[in-house]
Amino acid sequence: MKKIVLLAFATILMMVSCTNRQKTPQFKENPDMEYRTLGSTGLRVGVIGLGCGGFDEIDSTASRELVTYALDHGMNYMDLYDANPKVRSNIGYGLGDRRAEMIIQGHIGCWWNGDSYERTRDVEKCKIGFEDLLERLHTDYIDVGMIHIVDKMEEWQEIQGSPYLQYVQDLKAQGKIKHIGLSSHNAEVALAIAKSGLVEVIMFSLNPAFDRVQSDKNPWTFGGGDRLLDAEKSPLKIALTRDQCFAYVMAKPCVKVALCSIDSASKVDEYLHYLKATDEEKDYNSALSKQTAQNDMDKGACTYCNHCMPCSAGIPIAKVNELLDKAEKEGLTAELKAKYDSLPHHAGECTHCGACLSRCPFGVDIPTQMDRAKEVFGK
Ligand code: SF4
Ligand code: SF4
Repeated sequence: MKKIVLLAFATILMMVSCTNRQKTPQFKENPDMEYRTLGSTGLRVGVIGLGCGGFDEIDSTASRELVTYALDHGMNYMDLYDANPKVRSNIGYGLGDRRAEMIIQGHIGCWWNGDSYERTRDVEKCKIGFEDLLERLHTDYIDVGMIHIVDKMEEWQEIQGSPYLQYVQDLKAQGKIKHIGLSSHNAEVALAIAKSGLVEVIMFSLNPAFDRVQSDKNPWTFGGGDRLLDAEKSPLKIALTRDQCFAYVMAKPCVKVALCSIDSASKVDEYLHYLKATDEEKDYNSALSKQTAQNDMDKGACTYCNHCMPCSAGIPIAKVNELLDKAEKEGLTAELKAKYDSLPHHAGECTHCGACLSRCPFGVDIPTQMDRAKEVFGK
């Protein structure tokens, strides 16, 4: 392992080794942003980047505003794992003629099965998913092509020498991806992969609550970063600030960029505040030292990542969980109820088949969540 760099904000992080040819992004560093070099890729990345979670519910106009504002403020790295055609198209529109300014991390092994996102190692499906990504982003290359989610050692072993890995390496040889990366939620697996030297970038979850207990209790790290800002929801039972969360993540030398789910241009400044925060505002150690409770550590919390899809009953699990969390936090409003009612399938249709459970990297008890949602929303 030559070098490790990480990329994270309560959910995500990366590592890097080796060198590669690359198309130099047409991006000028913004004096208000902090930049780090993404390992031996040589790419200069703003420490605050964009995840794609925030694009889930916004239209093309709002996507354009968000991407434009982010680029104008020095955010030049984004992750796009979502296979939802609408999200991809909106991001493509959002990038407009500025695609070359954004370093894009796209995932190989996720595709849209006509109804929902699906994780796959089937090369034909991977091709469909990857070509669709290029087309919707109006581009002929992806800066970092990610091997999508490897959370088990056996899976990593299966990938070695597989047609799937050959496909990823062929994409690199063809220049369709400039660097190979990988996403994982399992520290042991991620470390083994980093040591292999096969990938240049690893995206990984970081969370100041769960990182502290995960190793001996559970092989998973957890997402759900926004809960850390709410004392009632956080397993730490104290509310951290965004600045403290960023400081926690960025204090790790291997972390190069934190990816944030932001759903409007008007919210970007809340995240950028970290760049001008005082040492006192960034002091997470004092806050963490006040932590008194660590209950709920062994329960998974939904990050709305969609990795559990497809549901055998067609339930949009992430959306149900998101609406449930909002209803439990803010009360059941007419707006939330209307959003829930408009979903194509509802939690009450859950058959408890358990098919989704092994696909959730965060250990969420999905059938129980569906039962709770049925109770709250009435169907
Ligand atoms: S347990 Fe319920 S939510 Fe999970 S796949 Fe089966 S029907 Fe869908
Ligand atoms: S239940 Fe798990 S896999 Fe599904 S959206 Fe939530 S965190 Fe992601």
